[in-house]
Amino acid sequence: MNHIVLKKTEGYSRDTVDGAIRRLLEPLGGMGAFVKPGERVLLKPNLLSAKPPEAAVTTNPEVLRAVIGMVREVGALPVVGDSPGVGRLRRVAEKSGILQVLEETGTELVEFDEPLQVDGAGFFRRFELARPYLEADRVINLPKLKTHGMMTMTCAVKNLFGAVVGAGKIAWHLRAGEDRDLFARMLLEIYLLRKPDLNIVDAIVAMEGDGPSSGDPRNVGLLIAGVNPVAVDVIAAEILKIPKRLLYVERAAEKMALAGVDRSTIQVSGYPLDTAQVSDFKLPPLSDVQFGLPRFLARHIRHYFTAYPYPIAEKCRLCGICRDACPPGAMEIRDGSLFIDYQKCIRCFCCRELCPDHALGVREGRLLRIMKKYI
Ligand code: SF4
Ligand code: SF4
Repeated sequence: MNHIVLKKTEGYSRDTVDGAIRRLLEPLGGMGAFVKPGERVLLKPNLLSAKPPEAAVTTNPEVLRAVIGMVREVGALPVVGDSPGVGRLRRVAEKSGILQVLEETGTELVEFDEPLQVDGAGFFRRFELARPYLEADRVINLPKLKTHGMMTMTCAVKNLFGAVVGAGKIAWHLRAGEDRDLFARMLLEIYLLRKPDLNIVDAIVAMEGDGPSSGDPRNVGLLIAGVNPVAVDVIAAEILKIPKRLLYVERAAEKMALAGVDRSTIQVSGYPLDTAQVSDFKLPPLSDVQFGLPRFLARHIRHYFTAYPYPIAEKCRLCGICRDACPPGAMEIRDGSLFIDYQKCIRCFCCRELCPDHALGVREGRLLRIMKKYI
């Protein structure tokens, strides 16, 4: 049985968060059940990009502070690491308020800049993941609950994609990003290569709408903990009432028959799930309807049944961040404007995820607009 614990938590005051995480972990045996004295414990928050805590893009620093304190109390050594989607880790940590917590608590910030090759155990033959992630004695995953334009929701499983070093993420988007089911499978295979020992989700203020970086903060008022990130995600999706057909990771986990995806094997405690549920959580715009078309045909007519990014000229500073991150190199800055080659574009929406100025909008193909009325 997978035990998932919920704790009602309002706001990010230091004492509130600290007390809530302690009570959250009690039914699971406390931090001592996961961490032993002398161990090096990697804490893996969501450090997607340099945004302040109130933007709800990154894991709140007070969640990190509380977990650092509890790991120390056990006699272990906490370190914090991630590989941001855009920008240097230190800059992202600074802007998100996390660097201040690290300085105040004397905690090391670890760059994920050295990849280590590991053989895949499933569909994908090889992965390059960050050495500090693979070599830590323990990993505590600290995701932020958010919507995600491509996967619909990002929570415990998706947060582990940060273990892929820098530009490696672009390569994965290029390889698997056109097919959401394949991308979800890739995320799950990364999880299986190095399972986190514990997952604590910051869903006190989540992100709804146009996530994972341009959505709106939404008070959900919860912390969620569990050992199995697949089960954590199943419950997080249930809290947000996201339909299964939009949950690519959950569907891929079912196909792979992974532990934790079967709802009958998940026990929830700490707070009533039906009371925790959010009835009007805004999901990201539906971005495709593919009806299982053969890939060659789908490529030809995809402009009609997919959503696609477009530059908003009055907001775009032509900084080039999106162009440099675009997996297939479909973006170009010329004559003072940003252009997208839609024949090359794989609709991964990395550009929207990474643009610091919200300068990329989404347009829906004609067929997608019609079909949305029926699905
Ligand atoms: S769309 Fe955003 S990331 Fe891309 S060039 Fe413009 S401002 Fe920069
Ligand atoms: S233009 Fe944007 S959505 Fe298209 S491939 Fe590039 S990053 Fe992905």
